[in-house]
Amino acid sequence: MPLLNPAQNVFLISTSDLSCNSFLLKAKQNLLIDSGSSTATEEHISTLKKLNLELSDISVILHTHGHYDHFQADKIYSKAETFMSEFDSKHLIEENPEFTRIREDSFHPKIHSFLKENQVLEFLPFKLKVISTPGHTKGSLCFYEPDKKMLFSGDTIFFHTIGRTDLMSGSFSDLKNSVQKLSELDVEHLFPGHGKIVSGKKENRENFEYIKKHFF
Ligand SMILES: [Zn+2]
Repeated sequence: MPLLNPAQNVFLISTSDLSCNSFLLKAKQNLLIDSGSSTATEEHISTLKKLNLELSDISVILHTHGHYDHFQADKIYSKAETFMSEFDSKHLIEENPEFTRIREDSFHPKIHSFLKENQVLEFLPFKLKVISTPGHTKGSLCFYEPDKKMLFSGDTIFFHTIGRTDLMSGSFSDLKNSVQKLSELDVEHLFPGHGKIVSGKKENRENFEYIKKHFF
């Protein structure tokens, strides 16, 4: 996949396999929002090279939730501080390692800090507000940048679709409430955990309407 810069200082690292979209935010402390599955590590290394960054230049990894395709690539970032919700870290990763173990790769990240609803994380020029969005997993989180109107939505919403709710701790009614909550935000850039980015205020409004009409 080519290197994209869908919005200023936000870079997509994507491998078009089962790995998630990983977003690199160039900031005072560079950070990733989700890393990806272990198959994504080469793409990470080549993207960093294009940006003249070393692995050690990534200080932080924020996780939207505790599924393997969003965290296995953490293993190449041994210096990064990792964040996730307490529920997904404890119940999906620590207590149920079989759930996240995929074939030969049993890597599990050590989560350093737990994120809470309404917490604001400052990685200037970004200020990311943590939004609790249970449904895909009970501890799913989204990250909202109110000034730049960016929403990093993990596996809660995508372009024209929603995250599955049949996996451990998933709940369709919770997901519905979470989508309602997200739809009240002013969004111009949707950066979902899989699939294409949605750009534009009108396009994002239409995307929420489409999802509400077709899924709820
Ligand atoms: Zn997931």
